[in-house]
Amino acid sequence: MKSGTFAQMLLFDEHITPAAGNSLTAADRTVLIETLLTSKAQWTAWNPTTGCTKVSEACENCYADATTQFLQARGVHAYRHGFLPVFHPERLNLPQTFRSPRRIFVDAMSDLFHDAFTDQQIHDIFNVMTATPQHQYFVLTKRPERMLDILGCSPPTPNVVLGVTVEQEAYLWRAELLAGLHASFITFVNCEPLLGNIGAMPASGIDICFAAPENGPRRRPTKPEWFATLQQTCNNYGIRYIGHRFDIRADAGKRPIYP
Ligand code: SF4
Repeated sequence: MKSGTFAQMLLFDEHITPAAGNSLTAADRTVLIETLLTSKAQWTAWNPTTGCTKVSEACENCYADATTQFLQARGVHAYRHGFLPVFHPERLNLPQTFRSPRRIFVDAMSDLFHDAFTDQQIHDIFNVMTATPQHQYFVLTKRPERMLDILGCSPPTPNVVLGVTVEQEAYLWRAELLAGLHASFITFVNCEPLLGNIGAMPASGIDICFAAPENGPRRRPTKPEWFATLQQTCNNYGIRYIGHRFDIRADAGKRPIYP
């Protein structure tokens, strides 16, 4: 582990230790955001659930779906049910086996808040995250209504970063719901694939916005002015904008994001 990483700060900087109050302080938040964006900790995928169903335009060329078909065709046991949502209890404690702190993308092959998963299963997964504060977890969903229901009373949890996809303005409601969890979590909006002009954001409660065009052979057209508008929108709302050179899935994708 290199010195100064986000995970190391979580381990050794008492100032960031949770449960000091009812919410993350502004000072802690600033340090946490800066550190997570510059961390060199290894990216790892952890898929305690797999499978999903499509909910919006961003899902049209779902990477997880395509990868699942690929793995199922090759007989990979965990994907024998294809893209049907499945909870994998045998994977639950995987993060506890990692010797060094990591940045962990949770459920790159699923959506943790899919209604096929029980509240208890989701709580079990979150309990692993809070029990391993040496790791930094990224959770991205298109179902923030359930995320808010389940995590609405959480204490400050500095090692879990929560995000929602907003591919176009019609889905800004997801960011509004996410903002309701801001007191306890670092929050991000993921505008990937960016499929339209986004000229508004929640007035508060969002820390970071990632934006990227669609990838792959069936990528849909994008316009440079959409990115310019989004960047200006984020500037107006005090949200840290990270353009398409920083893409958490692409970064994670330098290593396999399955099983
Ligand atoms: S919510 Fe995510 S995992 Fe589920 S279908 Fe859509 S893009 Fe794929």
